[in-house]
Amino acid sequence: MTRTVYVNGEYLPEGEAKVSIFDRGFLFADAVYEVTSVLDGKLIDFDGHAVRLERSLKELDMASPCSKEELLEIHRKLVELNGIEEGLVYLQVTRGSDGDRDFVFPSADTPPSLVLFTQNKPGLADSPAAQKGAKVISIEDIRWGRRDIKTVQLLYPSMGKMMAKKAGADDAWLVEDGYVTEGTSNNAYYVKNGKIVTRPLSNDILHGITRAAVLRLAAEAQMEIEERLFTIKEAKEADEAFTTSASAFVMPVVEIDGVQLGDGTPGPIAKRLREIYLEESRKKAV
Ligand code: PLP
Repeated sequence: MTRTVYVNGEYLPEGEAKVSIFDRGFLFADAVYEVTSVLDGKLIDFDGHAVRLERSLKELDMASPCSKEELLEIHRKLVELNGIEEGLVYLQVTRGSDGDRDFVFPSADTPPSLVLFTQNKPGLADSPAAQKGAKVISIEDIRWGRRDIKTVQLLYPSMGKMMAKKAGADDAWLVEDGYVTEGTSNNAYYVKNGKIVTRPLSNDILHGITRAAVLRLAAEAQMEIEERLFTIKEAKEADEAFTTSASAFVMPVVEIDGVQLGDGTPGPIAKRLREIYLEESRKKAV
């Protein structure tokens, strides 16, 4: 089925949507993005994603393409037009184009490009991958220093996923100066003696919208949380581990660098947090 996508004010069949070859998103990865999940045909954590988008734009001195209310309307319309019950909405804002290639930013009145499309993912909440748990490998984190900005510079995370696949794993955790930063496209956690350990927020990691929600829910459920730097060795000695992201919610991790965690099946805390997060998110979905 042909999707209807959104590009700069128009809803079009995917084959007809076009962006200039001079667009800075294409030439310089001068663009930011958000991914919002959809459950029961409704948007999960929309507000958090909209707030982070504004922050990313501001940090890069990029103009906002439209208001939060308009963004919500576009998201909802795409979900409806494409009949999405479970899936994702991808949004990208680029610095646009003034019709040539130049390292210098175009003038401030150059309109940004705004593109959105849906991805239909039936069974997203009930995913077999989450029931099985993920195997991860560790690789060096060689990304730039502003990982708190959600830019489309995703070549290294993409290479990391390929390294994982080649090693027979599902994903990679990134390690810098001996400490885990995050996963290629998720935030990373381990659990030892009931305590959840995760890296604190800084420019070194993306400030996950799912991370914020899951940590809040964990605290409400009286779970112990410690935000501090941790090594891959500590994580390998953990009782369990997991990742969080908008596209996979809470994903249990059952193996790190070939070392099995616990009995090699998803741990109780990861499973509980996934349940609570899905339940709460469905209630608050818009
Ligand atoms: N860290 C990185 C590097 C990511 O790419 C993502 C999501 O794409 C996350 C963390 C999780 O963020 P969120 O929960 O907002 O999806």
